[in-house]
Amino acid sequence: MTDNKEVMNIKDQKEIKKRDDVIGWDDLFMGIAFMAGTRSKDPCTQVGACIVDQHKRIVSVGYNGMPEGCHDDKFPWGKDPNDPLKNKHTFVCHAELNAILNRHGADIRGSTIFVSLFPCNQCAKLIIQSGLKEIVYYCDKHAEKPSTIASKMMLDAASIKYRVYVPEKKVILVDLAKKFVSLMTTSAEIEP
Ligand SMILES: [Zn+2]
Repeated sequence: MTDNKEVMNIKDQKEIKKRDDVIGWDDLFMGIAFMAGTRSKDPCTQVGACIVDQHKRIVSVGYNGMPEGCHDDKFPWGKDPNDPLKNKHTFVCHAELNAILNRHGADIRGSTIFVSLFPCNQCAKLIIQSGLKEIVYYCDKHAEKPSTIASKMMLDAASIKYRVYVPEKKVILVDLAKKFVSLMTTSAEIEP
């Protein structure tokens, strides 16, 4: 025999539906690439990369920065065209390089790399030699530069696909303070 309260609970449960407005895969992985980029000390360009395997598992992330042991305060962040030793490009590791090296021995052949800026020619070589099969990029602002043209020549020859990221959601907001409050509230509601 069921009382009215129990009937109401069953009715309520039937009306609970799954969320349909979840974040899409591309939004998630590009969002993580951007999050990684926020770690960069580069005052001009912060680039992030996220490598995802064929099962949509995140294998690695990286961002542009000085090599390990090369102190951020001792190496140059400027772009002196006359002195390579005062030019960051001589020293900085790009996000793609760091993401590839950060994979902890995981097999990344056949994986996709999400990156906020189209890979340069040096990174294209790494991507090809690492067996990555696809690049999803956010911005191609250096498309006219020889380094990007060379990059695409190599990627095309190696049959690496590349496509521009098309956001499903316009904004991904992670308010860490509010998320904590939200999680605590939700947990309190579902605990028996
Ligand atoms: Zn690069």
